[in-house]
This record gives sequence, structure tokens and C-alpha cells, in this order.
Amino acid sequence: MVKLKSHHNYVVFFLTLSCNLNCSYCINLHNGGSRYKQAKRKQFTYKEWIEAANKLQLRDDLPITLQGGEPTLLKGFDIFTREVKSEIKMDLLTNMMFDVNWFIKNIPVSRFNREAPYAPIRVSYHPGQNKIEDLIYKTKKMEDAGFRVGIFGIELPDENLNKDVFKAQELCLKEGIDFRLKEFLGEYNGKIYGTFKYPGSVMGKLKYCKCKTTELLVDPNGYIFKCHSDLYNGRTPYANILDKDFSGKDADEALGNAGITINKNTVPGETRSPFVTSGIRVGSAALTSRGMKEKEFELIANKIADVLDDINNTELQAKIKEELKELAQNFVIIINQHIRS
Ligand code: SF4
Repeated sequence: MVKLKSHHNYVVFFLTLSCNLNCSYCINLHNGGSRYKQAKRKQFTYKEWIEAANKLQLRDDLPITLQGGEPTLLKGFDIFTREVKSEIKMDLLTNMMFDVNWFIKNIPVSRFNREAPYAPIRVSYHPGQNKIEDLIYKTKKMEDAGFRVGIFGIELPDENLNKDVFKAQELCLKEGIDFRLKEFLGEYNGKIYGTFKYPGSVMGKLKYCKCKTTELLVDPNGYIFKCHSDLYNGRTPYANILDKDFSGKDADEALGNAGITINKNTVPGETRSPFVTSGIRVGSAALTSRGMKEKEFELIANKIADVLDDINNTELQAKIKEELKELAQNFVIIINQHIRS
């Protein structure tokens, strides 16, 4: 069970970074996002997202915000929203390119009905990408079905670009739809716009900010990040939401069976005995001295993760042992023989 701390005020599941629009200012790489390019591991299925959500112990005022990319593109999105334990509330950030009749038929209103000063379903209007008339039509249909929906536009730092956004706002207000403007954050024509606590940070001038994160962000592979900057810059996550409850000793044994030698190791704040431990230590010297490089290390790291993901699977361990034996045969240790004359 993952219990949120009192300082957490935003929990996000990035269900997928894929999207069906192509906004020029989008910060995601739609082939899976910046981090995914580096870690070639599979993305969570809806079943894994259900397991992840059910592990969370959330305060009543704290929903899971579903985000992306376009979160409704997750295969089985509807099943996910239906099958997570009933006490969990959700917010949805969407571009609303889905079939509204399908949404109304398959998504439970009760999941998205928490009390808040803004709508739990928040739709982004992107001029030139999604049409405001379509968003208005769908919003009204969804409201009739009991959902609370709001549309958001970004006030851009350019009068011409803003014309569409203001027109959309006018149309929505006429229809009684909650339309709000968000501040543009970022650089435009060499100038930084937006309100920042540490203005230099967005220009790369600040190397260190003393900010206390209040977020828990889970990427499409289930990795947990403490802030958006860590997520988008591909920094090391601090856990995976489906991390299993096994010890360093268990990992040592399972990896040993797969032909991978590591050491169990204590971690900061260790709660287990030094003979059991909660961590492992992985050395690289034995492999670099054989001549292995980045490609082999990436492969072995993924094999380690595969073994630990399914730690009791002895068949998998035996299979990986054979694969790694084959790999090692291409990297034979050359022993220098010193001959005394
Ligand atoms: S709708 Fe959002 S995720 Fe999709 S392309 Fe536009 S900015 Fe990116």
C-alpha cells in the first residue's frame, strides 16, 4: 500500500504519452516520451494501472489526475475507470477527441464527481487542432449525462494567436460552459512569459532550486517522479509504483540463479537486518574488463529488471542464465601471462 504524505497535493498517472493531436508546442515526444527512448521497457497495460491505483491510499480531497499525451488512448481506459476500487476519485485532462457516446456509455460518472472549485474533467482547447464547436457539443452532451466538464485555453503572448482563444471563450460563456484561461508559461520570441518562483530556472540559469515537491507523478512505465522537471529531463525515478516487497537477499538469490552476481546492500533508512537488506549493489568492473559497453549494459540491466519483476519465476531465471552465458562467450577474459626469463 502506498500512503500519501500530508504535503502531497497532486497525484498524476501519465497513462500514455501518445496523442491524436500534434500541437507544435507539445512537450511530449509522442513515441513514448523522452525517458522512454532511453529505457526500452514495456508501458503499463490497463491491468497494471488498476493494480497501481489500488495500491494508493489517498485522502478524500486528493484524486488521481489522468493525463498524457491523451489518456483516453490507453487501451482499456474505460475498464480502468470502472475497475479501480470505488473510493478512488479521478480527474481527467483531455483533448476530447474521443467518441462522446462511447464515453458516456462506458465511463462511470461517479468516478469523476468529486467536489472541487474546478471541473474534474478538464478539456484543453488547442487552436488549429481541436474545434471549439465540437468541444462545446461534446461538453453539453456530457453535462446532460451528469459529468462536470470545463474547457481551458492558454492566453498566448501574441494578440493574433489569441484571437481564436478569446473567440472560444466567448462562445463557451454564451453556452454557459465553464471556460477558463491559463497563463502561458515559457519562452516566446526570446522572452520568458509566466509567473515563476525561480525565474532563472526555466532559462537554464539556475542549477539548484530549493523547492519542496508536492507532486507524485507516475510515468507510462510506472516509474515515480517527484516533479515534472525530473520526469521530462529523464532523471532517475525514485521507485516504480508496482515495486514488489522483496529483500536484497531475495534479489541476490534470484539474480544468482540467472547467472548475475550482485551483492545485497543496505539502503538509507534501512529497516531490515544487514543480512537481509532492502537494496542491492551492482558492480560493473567484471563486465568492463571483458570489454562490454553501453549496449551490453543496457541489455543486462533489462534482464535484471525482468528477473526482479517476476522474482519467483525460476524458469525465467534459467532461460536468462543461458542467454547471458551466450553473451559472455563473445567477451572472453584475456589473461596476461607474465613469463619470467
Ligand atoms: S493535445 Fe496535448 S499532448 Fe496532444 S499534442 Fe497537443 S499539447 Fe501535446
